[in-house]
Amino acid sequence: MDRRKFIINSVIGTTAMVTLNSFMKSFSNQKFANEIMPVLFVGHGNPMNAIEKNDYHNKWAELGKTLPRPKAILCVSAHWLTKGTQVTAMEKPKIIHDFGGFPQELFDVQYPVNGSPEFAKETQMLITKTKVQSDFEWGLDHGTWSVLLPMFPNADIPVFQLSIDYSQPPQYHYDLSKELTALRKKGVMIIGSGNIVHNLGMIDWGGKAYDWAIEFDEKIKKLIDERDHSAVINYDKLGRIAQLAVPTNDHYLPLLYSLALQEKNETISYFNEKCEMGSMSMRSLIIQ
Ligand code: ZN
Repeated sequence: MDRRKFIINSVIGTTAMVTLNSFMKSFSNQKFANEIMPVLFVGHGNPMNAIEKNDYHNKWAELGKTLPRPKAILCVSAHWLTKGTQVTAMEKPKIIHDFGGFPQELFDVQYPVNGSPEFAKETQMLITKTKVQSDFEWGLDHGTWSVLLPMFPNADIPVFQLSIDYSQPPQYHYDLSKELTALRKKGVMIIGSGNIVHNLGMIDWGGKAYDWAIEFDEKIKKLIDERDHSAVINYDKLGRIAQLAVPTNDHYLPLLYSLALQEKNETISYFNEKCEMGSMSMRSLIIQ
């Protein structure tokens, strides 16, 4: 018996000790129940990051070991654009290899997780901004599985996706995401997966980042640090660098889903802060 237990036992006796133990246990369960899950925005970049043991991949793997274990993961991926908003509601989402021109090894990747019909239903109930449709077709696209495979390699945490209504302006997505706050308190980790700078037309494989890519990426970081979410939403006001960095906003919008969930007392830390391939920012963040 350690000294502390000995003293407690001596002072309050065994019966009281049992009571104290159950109190401590219920207190720690309570703490877990009230623990608010962190929110991530992950720059996913090249799909090969799923299997190449590079810095990005390794960082995702490291995070998986340090983040609290969620009951489920809700991913908002740049690769699921729809008219209206949908949520995957199947028991077993299939893996979608939604790309071309990559090695067979990448097409062979599987990530056999369960979905979460329960949390999908809860998501539908929470969102009042629009009627969220149940989806039984989509599954998990590479915006989701390329990150989760290194992060949670055991594929034992249920995963579901929320689509991006591509007919809507940025502010709409930010406002919609705010309605998801309650999920965090129920043990759901929400991950936006995209890229702050993403201009495929100007990709330079193996090349250095363009000045405008670095400038836009740093400007967005500064706005995030200043908590000027309105300016992040209205990124198009940043002019030429915004037009180059975000020629279409499919990869930018997931950032707004993540940022919208930042509570007043929460801070943001960054990882994979790098621009590469000319026109891609891998900047990622954790809100907690
Ligand atoms: Zn992508």
